Amino acid sequence: MKPKAVIIGSGIGGLAIAIHLSKMGYSVDLFEKNSYPGGKIYEYRIQGYRFDSGPSLFTMPNLVDELFTLAEENPADYLKYHKLENICRYFYDDGTIIDAWSDIDKFIKEISEKLGEDPDHLYRYFKRGEELYNIASNALIFNSFQHYSKLFKKENLQVAFHPFKLDTMKSIHERNSCSFLNPHLIQLFDHYATYIGSNPYSAPATLKIIPHLEHHIGVFYPEKGMYSIINELTNLALRLDVKIQYNTPVEKVLIRDDQAAGVRINGEDNTYDIVVSDVDINYFYKNLLIESPIPESISHIEQSSSALVFYWGMDCLFPQIDLHNIFFSSSYKEEFDCLFEQKTFSEDPTVYLYVSSKHIPEDAPQGCENWFVMVNAPVNVGQNWENLIENARKAIISKLNRILNRDIEEHIKFEKVMDPRQIEEETRSWQGSLYGNSSNGPFAALYRHTNFHRRIKGLYFTGGSVHPGGGIPLCLASAKIVAQEVINDWIS
Ligand SMILES: Cc1cc2nc3c(=O)[nH]c(=O)nc-3n(C[C@H](O)[C@H](O)[C@H](O)COP(=O)(O)OP(=O)(O)OC[C@H]3O[C@@H](n4cnc5c(N)ncnc54)[C@H](O)[C@@H]3O)c2cc1C
Repeated sequence: MKPKAVIIGSGIGGLAIAIHLSKMGYSVDLFEKNSYPGGKIYEYRIQGYRFDSGPSLFTMPNLVDELFTLAEENPADYLKYHKLENICRYFYDDGTIIDAWSDIDKFIKEISEKLGEDPDHLYRYFKRGEELYNIASNALIFNSFQHYSKLFKKENLQVAFHPFKLDTMKSIHERNSCSFLNPHLIQLFDHYATYIGSNPYSAPATLKIIPHLEHHIGVFYPEKGMYSIINELTNLALRLDVKIQYNTPVEKVLIRDDQAAGVRINGEDNTYDIVVSDVDINYFYKNLLIESPIPESISHIEQSSSALVFYWGMDCLFPQIDLHNIFFSSSYKEEFDCLFEQKTFSEDPTVYLYVSSKHIPEDAPQGCENWFVMVNAPVNVGQNWENLIENARKAIISKLNRILNRDIEEHIKFEKVMDPRQIEEETRSWQGSLYGNSSNGPFAALYRHTNFHRRIKGLYFTGGSVHPGGGIPLCLASAKIVAQEVINDWIS
């Protein structure tokens, strides 16, 4: 008889590990509390418009493709991606506009022409990002370095003996301020900390890896939108005989003699050989494993930021914007002080605008655009959200009106809003954070929860709140690590 695995949650990490385990010979059951798969990756269809509800920036599609290849299928039969020539258009209050061309030489030319920065500063910065990625990726991203026994394996020695190479002791803002002269450029490279919901004034300079990934490997968009990734991974899991049950919250993880024994659903105990949680780690310890407290090493780390998103059906076209656009705050430091210390929005928040209909025309009626307008938000600690949202909306509209020189409000046909309370309610993400614990502080990224339980055998963790971190590529990396852990523990 096949060994039995249960997965809690159908976020991208949960679906990925379901595929791995099924290929490894497990009979896999996946329970999801919502009526649909995908967790934070979802889509809304309203009045002929389609909106990606959560993630929009897609990097390292090879990690999705690998799951199809693992199942001996051709990924291109199911998902098609296109590489963006222009990764993002950046707008500043003084009228400066920068296009972040994927082609590194073209991008550097743009920066030196528009901001007067010495091209050598940029070449050197990208080179350092690449070197860091080469040192850290095997040791820290695609491996469970948290096994003390593995720390001194060959691939980890560079990191173990040269921890300074990770550049954790300077914040990304300090590193950028030493690397560049132009404040707009410093701000542009600072904003990468927000890709993992962190504060550029305290998150480590290690994050310079991210611009390297964007410009060397690329940023992509799936031809049918972000949710097509979830649809196709769900179908792949079903073809591999994974049994998925929706509207089925798991109530408790069962433990017997320090060994995971199954899950409780609707008051009934179900027996399994191994249990994998794709649920936010804080929520997991506080609700599904109450007899075992969250490890102290991570319990004090603050959560990553959340998001306030407006989905606007626009009744006309805006030629001056691209697929991904960022309208920077003119007081960036104040924005992060507000988010992480005062748990509020600043008066001039940075606005991210994503318009998938620029590349996927079916996403909006002809002559119209689907606007996903997001500002970083503080986590939900019971603020007066109605008030905060009303003020943030005014600030967003006034910023967009000013920079685009249009009356935005009169072109909004309808609006849907998502705030940190809903993110928390719908995905069980602790306080509505997008990426689990923040990476604020030199070593916070290294203190993420392990992909296995240190005491309870057969209990594993995948998804954005555990090692190696949040965001689609890292969730997929976490599933790969869990698969390897299961092989080490039970198969080899
Ligand atoms: C607004 C927004 C923008 C983002 N932008 C980007 C981006 O541009 N690029 C990027 O890479 N990432 C982005 N992210 C982050 C990315 O979406 C997440 O890191 C990733 O999707 C998390 O996947 P996960 O595997 O951790 O599971 P989640 O998506 O967190 O899903 C967990 C699942 O578990 C289910 N669950 C919870 N409790 C139970 C229970 N007791 N029983 C059964 N099921 C349960 C939930 O319903 C949910 O479906 C964004 C996220 C948001 C919200």
